[in-house]
Amino acid sequence: MADDSCLFCRIIAGELPTDRVAETNAALAFRDISPQAPMHVLVIPKTHQPTLAELAEADPEAALEVLRLAREVAEQEGVGAGYRLVANNGAGAQQSVFHAHVHVLGGREFTWPPG
Ligand code: AMP
Repeated sequence: MADDSCLFCRIIAGELPTDRVAETNAALAFRDISPQAPMHVLVIPKTHQPTLAELAEADPEAALEVLRLAREVAEQEGVGAGYRLVANNGAGAQQSVFHAHVHVLGGREFTWPPG
């Protein structure tokens, strides 16, 4: 169910311009507007759930589809050998857009622990 007040639901609906890189029936991938790595793509489910954890509970197949598309994007972008998936889950983890999403980051060295 789409949420008219949700930025990512509006992107799915085509109401806001984005640089789309891949799409399936259940998920959409587009470039992050503020990239934190040479390759930084967001993968989102087409159904609205506020967090990835809630998506996994409400619609496990859609959550799997997000992870599958993240892998496809990494391969397509040439970083399949090593990339980072990030899911900020909740305000305490600095999530800023409350539509479930996974960040796919690649093309640079990563450190651990993350910031
Ligand atoms: P998070 O902070 O984990 O919720 O991630 C939200 C991400 O959405 C941030 O990395 C933003 O840069 C990104 N973002 C916000 N608005 C847009 C937009 N219109 N197009 C693409 N990415 C966006």
